[in-house]
Amino acid sequence: ARRAALSAASGPGATSDGHTVPLLANIGGPGDVAAAVEAGAEGVGLFRTEFLFLDDGTRAPSEEKQTAAYRQVLEAFPQGRVVVRVLDAGADKPLDFLTPADEPNPALGVRGLRSLLDHPDVLRTQLTALARAAEGLPVHLEVMAPMVADRADARAFADACRAAGLHAKFGAMVEIPSAALRARSVLQEVEFLSLGTNDLAQYTFAADRQVGAVSRLQDPWQPALLDLVALAAEAGRAEGKSCGVCGEAASDPLLACVLTGLGVTSLSMGAASIPYVRAALAKYTLAQCERAAAAARATESADEARAAARAVLSGE
Ligand code: PEP
Ligand code: MG
Repeated sequence: ARRAALSAASGPGATSDGHTVPLLANIGGPGDVAAAVEAGAEGVGLFRTEFLFLDDGTRAPSEEKQTAAYRQVLEAFPQGRVVVRVLDAGADKPLDFLTPADEPNPALGVRGLRSLLDHPDVLRTQLTALARAAEGLPVHLEVMAPMVADRADARAFADACRAAGLHAKFGAMVEIPSAALRARSVLQEVEFLSLGTNDLAQYTFAADRQVGAVSRLQDPWQPALLDLVALAAEAGRAEGKSCGVCGEAASDPLLACVLTGLGVTSLSMGAASIPYVRAALAKYTLAQCERAAAAARATESADEARAAARAVLSGE
């Protein structure tokens, strides 16, 4: 028991019966790497590259500057996975040189992958910098696009990655309900999915993530959100491809167990949450997580879902 407790305090993420769920870190740049390593992250599940672009809102950083920043992150996880998200500009992350100024609903406008497909030079420079940064390193580089709506988006992104000569896995974030509903189609074009539950909640409930008055609808325990997570995870299983979570949902230890029970294959979160999620997962078997997930989905509200999962996992 002592050894189990110790391995639960560090080591890879796993349920008590040994079902592994890699615990990865969300980072914004090289400055966040030390905390991720310290927390025992098994890699990076979401590198939000927009922070690199915020220094100078008038143009993209040079290929050299990007290459150096990516290289610093990749070197910190020599054998691990590093999932880099290409620039997600727009809505809550506006950039002057990319984001249209006159949109009535920026969250529903040209943001994320949409703005990169409108500015192929910016995407090409970023992908080239990533390819150069990974040269000669044993790291498992994965690159994903934000705000993929459908198979055509996923194909356009994969084409851009191939054209840049990138040797990496290409993936799609699932943050728009259409991508969750048609996750198997999206997976015909890319090798993995990553659920961005912050935006997925926003778009599922038509509830702006920046408007406090609708925060009830941003609760990641909402059963409708859990249903969409389950759909994406099932698609991943059916296609033999991974489907992780990198939104805030993954940082709630109880919800992390439920997400595992829904079939997600990795969890990525702020480094500070990793020890708590690792400890929670280590307490339960995969079958218990699956029962908690089923109980949560059988409810009608976020509060009921939370209570139902807690009841299953505490053996009430
Ligand atoms: C998300 O939407 O859940 C996500 C991980 O991306 P961001 O919070 O950066 O939009
Ligand atoms: Mg998002």
